[in-house]
Amino acid sequence: MRYIEPHGHMVSRTTDDYQDMVTAGCAAVCEPAFWAGFDRSTVHGFHDYFCQLTDFEPKRAARYGLPHFSWLCINPKESEDVKLAEEVIGIIPGFLQRSNVLGIGEIGLNKNSRNEMKVLEMHVDLAARHEQLILVHTPHLEDKLKGTRLILDVIRSDSRIQPERVLIDHVEEHTVRLVLDRGHWGGMTLYPVSKCSPARAVDILDVCGGDRLWMNSACDWGESVPLAIPRTALEMRRRGWTAEAVDRVIYQNPIRFLSQCPKFKLAAESA
Ligand SMILES: [Zn+2]
Repeated sequence: MRYIEPHGHMVSRTTDDYQDMVTAGCAAVCEPAFWAGFDRSTVHGFHDYFCQLTDFEPKRAARYGLPHFSWLCINPKESEDVKLAEEVIGIIPGFLQRSNVLGIGEIGLNKNSRNEMKVLEMHVDLAARHEQLILVHTPHLEDKLKGTRLILDVIRSDSRIQPERVLIDHVEEHTVRLVLDRGHWGGMTLYPVSKCSPARAVDILDVCGGDRLWMNSACDWGESVPLAIPRTALEMRRRGWTAEAVDRVIYQNPIRFLSQCPKFKLAAESA
């Protein structure tokens, strides 16, 4: 089996997890900027975090032969402070030329607040000005449908953004069609206790087919499983998906989306 982990918060994982992922067939990992488990109080905290994502973490992954890429932003959970968000967005262009940065993410909404909306619009503008791919976080539980609609409308209202260069993550049964119908890609986040279980993800794939969808484990500091993708691949096989069709979803699809950024390369290609 081979797969891409397109959304993993590796800063919260041990090196044992890297070893397990590579052993299971992981060929690349992508890490969106997100909340660190606590609110950072200054722009300097974000500067250090972006250095960690673009310098330290790729080196840690390289010890296991695993290419590591990142996405940069101030995440919705910390974007209530619009002034801080402006400062953080101001330092991001200085990182965009780094060879392992794929785009702007994971931006989006958490509580669907007015300030979060303002910061989302600032990020979309940043991505448009620098021709970056976009990775979007959608809120969880009861706010998901409303938040997804708000996010999709912000993206559509900026005519510089091409829909196929945007991936909307954490889709579920009630949001996946909205996302695909707008021409975007959708991501299913596999969590043991919330978000999308492996069985639900395969249900969604059975209904929607495997095109323009990927799966990720998020593997953050919450209850999450770094091997969620290969385990879900086993569930797909059990439910009758061929090895080729599984490979398309867990390996070829993420490569198709991510390769829209020319910096995304697998180990063999970059060697
Ligand atoms: Zn995330």
